[in-house]
Amino acid sequence: MNTQTINPLMQFSKKPARYIKIPSQGQGYSNLKLTDSGEIAVYPMTAKDELMLKSPDALLNGEAVISVLRNCVPDVPNPREIQIIDIDSLMVAVRMATYGDNMDMVATCPHDKHENNVQLNLPSLLDQQTYWTGLTEIETSDKIVVKMKPYTVTDQNKTSLVSFEQMTVLSQLDRQEADTQTKLKTANSTFSQLIDVTLELMTNSIVSATTPDGQEITDKAFIKQWVVGLSKADYDLIDNALKDLIKIGLPKSMNIKCDNCGEIFEAPINFNPSDFFG
Ligand SMILES: [Zn+2]
Repeated sequence: MNTQTINPLMQFSKKPARYIKIPSQGQGYSNLKLTDSGEIAVYPMTAKDELMLKSPDALLNGEAVISVLRNCVPDVPNPREIQIIDIDSLMVAVRMATYGDNMDMVATCPHDKHENNVQLNLPSLLDQQTYWTGLTEIETSDKIVVKMKPYTVTDQNKTSLVSFEQMTVLSQLDRQEADTQTKLKTANSTFSQLIDVTLELMTNSIVSATTPDGQEITDKAFIKQWVVGLSKADYDLIDNALKDLIKIGLPKSMNIKCDNCGEIFEAPINFNPSDFFG
């Protein structure tokens, strides 16, 4: 009979953590445990985590990544709050903790299509990350001051899922035996859903909008209503600020000298979980 309440096996399953700084520096989280030097502990993946990352359904809706981060970064109690600018750094740290500091990648030279085998040093990549210092402030043409933050991984997952679903609807529509009127109607409603999630993403990244007479609006429903009616110029202004915000974090590409032709080219670094951990 088993009378033990503590499983003696479990003392062998603890692996040492890696400590990293994250681009948000903890901003935007309701409850996050950083060390005194502002770092967060990241633990290696288990076999179960690795299997999760290979499940296409879970990957598609981002649940695999959330589940892995829940296990590997326990000091973020609510992984749905993870800021989009932190996700690559956290996944790199998970990879370092699990497989070590180096990662092999293939970079195809655009000049001669030569496939260069490159070894990426992950700690030095983390050294190059940029940090989010505070809310971005911009002013629209009618002098409304908008304060912005990056969105979360949950916002991003929702958008990717809707885009994927809508693309599927559109490609099926092509093959269907329907009259043009019906096809147009479906296509229009699909596009309007896509537009809606894009506007939602923008709304979620707006912390407040302050009118010229000093009224600060933080209500998401009010902000969304305002975002929907923005002029093209003001929309672009906010959209560009958002694009700049989400560039914070790890570099997304690196310069590589081709082994074959000697040209230097810019190669993307892909942090997509299925390639990155595959
Ligand atoms: Zn080349």
